[in-house]
Formats: sequence, C-alpha cells, structure tokens
Amino acid sequence: MASQTLQNYISGAWHPSGAAQHVAVHNPATGEVLAQVPLSPASEVDAAAQAAAAAFESWQRVPATERIQYLFKLKDLLEAHIDELSRIITNENGKTFGEAKGEMRRAIENVEVACGIPILMQGEFSEDIARGIDEFVIRQPVGVAAIIAPFNFPGMIPFWFLPYAVATGNTVIIKPSERCPLTMHRAVELMEQAGFPPGVVNLVNGGADTTNAILDHPQVAAISFVGSTPVARHIYARASANGKRVQAQGGAKNPIIILPDADMDTTTRIAADSAFGNAGQRCLAAALAVTVGEAREAFTEAIVEAAHQRVVGYGLDPDVTMGPVISPQSRSRIESLIQQGVDEGARLVTDGRDTVIRGYEGGNFLRPTILRDVVPGGIIARTEIFGPVLGLMHVETVDEAIALVNSGEFGNMACLFTSSGASARKFRSEALAGNIGINIGVAAPMAFFPFSGWRASFFGTLHGQGRHAVEFYTQTKVVIERWPKEWTRKF
Ligand code: NAD
Repeated sequence: MASQTLQNYISGAWHPSGAAQHVAVHNPATGEVLAQVPLSPASEVDAAAQAAAAAFESWQRVPATERIQYLFKLKDLLEAHIDELSRIITNENGKTFGEAKGEMRRAIENVEVACGIPILMQGEFSEDIARGIDEFVIRQPVGVAAIIAPFNFPGMIPFWFLPYAVATGNTVIIKPSERCPLTMHRAVELMEQAGFPPGVVNLVNGGADTTNAILDHPQVAAISFVGSTPVARHIYARASANGKRVQAQGGAKNPIIILPDADMDTTTRIAADSAFGNAGQRCLAAALAVTVGEAREAFTEAIVEAAHQRVVGYGLDPDVTMGPVISPQSRSRIESLIQQGVDEGARLVTDGRDTVIRGYEGGNFLRPTILRDVVPGGIIARTEIFGPVLGLMHVETVDEAIALVNSGEFGNMACLFTSSGASARKFRSEALAGNIGINIGVAAPMAFFPFSGWRASFFGTLHGQGRHAVEFYTQTKVVIERWPKEWTRKF
C-alpha cells in the first residue's frame, strides 16, 4: 500500500485539504507509514455541512423505498470488496485478517437492517380520538447528522449509524479516527460508486479541532460519537449545549464472572478470546475475570495456558491469532499500567511486556498478560487498559461478584459463566451493565438490537443500531385532524 495524502469527500467529489497540519498513519505491525491524514480546518467542516444541508432538502423527499436502493447497492459493493476492506483494517489497525473480516460482516449487517426502513420508520394512527377527529404520528429526518468514530473498529462503527441516518432521509458527515482513516476512505469510495446523490454522504478527516468544529456547527443537528469516556463526556456536554441531539458511547472495563459450576474448557476458550481478541482493544473486551469459590485455581491455570497459546504477530500472516496494539505510545502506556498494578500488589502470572517479533521489530507488540490478586479499587481494577491484559479477582459468593460488578464506573458489558439458570437470571437482572453475556464473552448486540452501554460507557438516551438508531435519526410530528361530515361536498 503506497503512502498517500488523504482527501476529504464533500458534495460528491474528493478535495485536497488545505490543512496546516497532517499526521502520519502507521501500520502498527511494521511501523511503515501508510498515509498522511489532514487535520482539516473548520472551513472544511463548514463546506461539508453546507453540502449536507443542501442535499438534505431533496434527499428527505426521496421515498424511503428509493433511498434504500442505494443501500442494496452498497451492500453488494461491500460484499464484493470485503477482503480488500479487511486487509486495509489489518494494515492500519493491527487486528488479524479474520477479526477484520468479522468486523466488516457486522458493518454489512447494519446495512441489511437499515434496508427495512420503509417499515421501521412507519408512524402510528388513531382514528376517532374524539368524534370525527383523528390523530397520528409521522417520523421525519432531523437534518445533517455527524458520525465521529474511534480507531478500534474503523470499518464497523460508522455503520452502527450511517445506514440508518441516510435511510431515514438525513445526510451525513463522517469524521473517522485520524489513527485509522483508510478504511472509511475506501468505504466512502464504494458509497460514491453506489451512486448516492452529491452531499448525502460526506467525509472530513481530522482530530480534536475538526471534531469541535462539527460540534459547534449550526447546521449539524445530530451527533453520533464512539470513543473514550473523557471525550464522550466532552462531546455530550458541548453538542448538547449547542442544542443538538447526541448519542455518545464511551470506554469500558468489562467484568466476567466465573462460577464453579461453569464448563471450564468452554469458559476458558471464550474468556481468552474476549480478553486477547483484537489485542484487547475492544470496548467489549473482558478486562477483569472474577472467580467465585472453587472456580479460582482451575480457571487461573487454564487461562494462563490459553494466553500462552496466542500467536502474536502481523495480522495478515495466516497463523497469527493476535496483532499489535495501535501505537508505541499505547504500548508504553499499557506496560506502565502493568507495572503500577504490580507495585500496588497484584501478581504477574504471565508477563507480555518487552515483546519483539522477528521480522517485525518496528511493531507495537505485547503478548497476553495476566495479573492475579488484583487489588479491589486499585489501578488495574478501575482503569480501562485497552490492551491484552486480564486482571483476576476472587470472591466467595454470587452476591459479592454482582456487588463487585456494580461497584465499577463503567457499564458497557458484564458476563456470567455458569450452568445454573437461577444464577444467570439473578445476574442478568441485577448487573448494572447494558450488554449482558451469559456463557458469552463478547456480548456484541446484532444489528437489529441497540448497542446498549450504560453509566460511564454511554451518554444519551438512544443507542446505535436497530430501532434505537431509527428513533435517534427521526423526529416525531403529531398531527390532529378534524374533517366534519357536514363539509363533504355533494357531487
Ligand atoms: P478517542 O476518544 O481518543 O477518539 C475518538 C474520536 O474522538 C476520534 O475521532 C478523535 O479524533 C476524537 N477526539 C479525540 N480527542 C478529542 C477531543 N479532545 N475533543 C474532540 N474530539 C476528540 O478514542 P479512541 O482511542 O480512538 O478509541 C478507543 C476508545 O473508544 C476506548 O475507550 C473504547 O472503549 C472506546 N470504544 C467504545 C465503544 C462503545 O461502544 N462504547 C466502542 C468502541 C470503542
């Protein structure tokens, strides 16, 4: 992949940015520079917002049945290019080709669900709410919607939003992560090929300043954000203060609970995939495994063995099961957190620091790391590490385990491993998290369910995907009509 300077896509054409600053996009496995991405100025956000606002005037009037024809074409194009897009994801993000393909599959599922918009955005009608008077609700698009995305799922996350936004009649501006902008660049080229009218889909590259220009732009009506919790709080506060509707998904620290009656082989395999898949850079990664009663020794032994079996390397090499983390800074941060955990009393049972992969000496590699006896309330128990690091904790009862889950700040996911229906039922009812897994390690909702973070993992009311996305991108209009019989003209 030759290094290129990325452009912005505004009003149906690619434009070089006049940005004063560009940043390099690196392959995290090799250190190679793949592209230069512009940190676009507010004037280019303005151009995209104007283009999107102009396109909205006619796009909202295109019948939903016609709007989804573009999505059917896009679905075909994404299917035809899935391997190419997945390779781009591996090269800019580091995850394995298999993980990248799984990500693109989830992206495509959202396009498929949004093709059901003609029925999903139907209104409601009540006849005779009083004699001769009818009342009904229609759903109309909100206008220009912006999508601000993180680095860790550069192909999937914009699709939690985009298909629903355009299918319901809105126009969009995508601001990909400046660390992984290449996947959306290619996806938008495919949208161009699908034939969306100019201005319906726009892409502006950039970082924090570009994002803030979007949050402040008067013609942007809705913001969909996914990223870390401090930035999510900022996005929610600033965009809400500007009168926009906002859905802001934040970070996570996901606990998984292992009861003594769980099937230990299955549990260990699933837990290892959750903790170390995508090199732990997943908002649904298992970050803390809490064993209950007699589960402790068997699980600890088995998960350490599973960690050792991960083959770390470049994600396009076929035997590799875990790629690098995103940047050298990220690797240093993770290594420093591991050390702080040890300093405060946790014990390393397998240490993935100082990893060098032959042939990829410029990569940001770590091997899976497991810390046991993690101190409750300490740095490892509280902090989102966002790397292949699993902390082990131990309690004696299910009630204590649930209390531990609920003592955390985040609420993205909580999972329980058990063969007891009663324990499962209690857990799913009492755990303070929006995505629950029972004998599941990555409880990622399908496209027709909301991606349902809670607490510090989400700011807003309506989530991405499915019916929540349809509601988020539409506003209700209630009409009350009186048509007295006496007014009927006789012909
Ligand atoms: P990030 O918060 O650093 O960046 C996300 C986006 O915000 C990027 O587009 C970036 O350009 C922009 N941004 C960064 N700093 C900003 C600032 N100060 N002001 C305005 N905009 C800013 O997140 P990341 O490191 O790219 O992604 C990883 C994080 O995302 C993790 O915390 C992870 O848990 C979270 N995440 C959450 C979910 C979820 O569904 N809850 C899903 C995926 C990732």
